[in-house]
Amino acid sequence: MDFSNKVYADNAATTKMSKTAIAAMLPYLDTCYGNPSSLYELGQAAKEALEAARADMASCIGADPAEIFFTSCGSESDNQAIRSAAHIGALKGKKHIISTAFEHHAVLHTLKKLEKEEGFEVTLLDVHSNGIVAAEEVKAAIRPDTCLVTVMFANNEIGTVQPVKEIGAVCREAGVTFHTDAVQAVGHIPVNVKEQNIDMLSLSAHKFHGPKGIGALYCRRGVRLLPFIDGGAQERGRRAGTENVAEIVAMAAALKEACANMAGNTAKLVALRDKIISALTKIPHSRLNGDRVHRLPGTINMCFEGIEGEGLLLHLDDRGICASSGSACTSGSLDPSHVLLAIGLPHEVAHGSLRISLCEYNTEEDAERIIEAVPEVVAYLRNMSPVWKELERGEKKHLL
Ligand code: PLP
Repeated sequence: MDFSNKVYADNAATTKMSKTAIAAMLPYLDTCYGNPSSLYELGQAAKEALEAARADMASCIGADPAEIFFTSCGSESDNQAIRSAAHIGALKGKKHIISTAFEHHAVLHTLKKLEKEEGFEVTLLDVHSNGIVAAEEVKAAIRPDTCLVTVMFANNEIGTVQPVKEIGAVCREAGVTFHTDAVQAVGHIPVNVKEQNIDMLSLSAHKFHGPKGIGALYCRRGVRLLPFIDGGAQERGRRAGTENVAEIVAMAAALKEACANMAGNTAKLVALRDKIISALTKIPHSRLNGDRVHRLPGTINMCFEGIEGEGLLLHLDDRGICASSGSACTSGSLDPSHVLLAIGLPHEVAHGSLRISLCEYNTEEDAERIIEAVPEVVAYLRNMSPVWKELERGEKKHLL
């Protein structure tokens, strides 16, 4: 398999593991493979590596090691945080939760279940057209029976960064637990749980060049965390199961590397990102989704009127470019992205989106290939699109 000529621009979906992370995990698959709960030296060496990784992860986000719990992925961290805060709230008669309409499905589907199966009431706040949620609106939505506010740090589709510190301050003042899904933020932009007033935070290794299938949940000391998987006493009784030492070690190595290189990576990515944005926004009847400034350094999301996102992706794939669309293919029907609908885009437009998400391994040449391919593919698809023809003949009004 040789994919070396591909332009990989889907880093918000997953990333390539860094060489540092791969090198860090190998000894724990090969030589130091003991169970960290075992008393002999081979097990204790694995335990030491596990605790060193916990300390490294904690220091990267401004936490204490005892506040880090390892999980199997970002989705699990979201599920555990939300369910724990909800169930603790219910014990006190508080069954109201505040979130936003453009969260990841790991959050939205968990909330939906709590609503349907356990009688919680969920307020989903509107997201402004720039893809940002206002802290004042969170404040206005808090009620005496609110037990949890969960608002994502950075959106996975459009890359907008939320005023997390301000939202955290509002929650702290009201005495409400604040969780943030920081899966797209950690390792990419500065995250400090203490300074940003965060009570619980979810992260996932494969978004910052660590392995897939490993994540962590930060839970501030003093905030109770209920067990998610029952069984052994691992993770101080909050998540049973023999720890995935190799991947945990690799995750910590990847995060340390990402944080150490963040300033340089950001400068490089912002330059590539902005170059692509200024070229692609020249395409007529196109639109950049999400705030121009408050966005992740590597994420671009655009809509092109008159075409379907899927067609765009397939043609880009033919040209060796891996990107993604906001639309999810659900049980055979193509639904427009809930994120784009949440920021107020009409259905017709939300169907034609393209997400380009870069990482520090992308090059100027990659940017050039994207800048060349996208306008050509958009023109080609519009030429075949009945909707575009109607727009051109003036039978339909342009929405962009
Ligand atoms: N939350 C956000 C914002 C994400 O982007 C993702 C992954 O795409 C997740 C949660 C889920 O993470 P994982 O794939 O590790 O379960």
